[in-house]
Amino acid sequence: MKKVWINPGCISCGTCEFIAPEVFQVTDISHVKKDADLQANAEKIKQAVASCPVSVIACQE
Ligand code: SF4
Repeated sequence: MKKVWINPGCISCGTCEFIAPEVFQVTDISHVKKDADLQANAEKIKQAVASCPVSVIACQE
């Protein structure tokens, strides 16, 4: 997993942080943590991408 980002439109539901707290932090909206280990958390990231209710999480493998 090379890159993960949040496109505009996050509704701050908290699902991504619940699934992968090592990667996502939801404050005003969801943010990708700067020191997140994307490789080690690749499966959780994919699960978060699939679970976001407004489909704003994007990733590049
Ligand atoms: S799952 Fe989607 S809508 Fe919910 S906090 Fe994460 S990015 Fe935002």
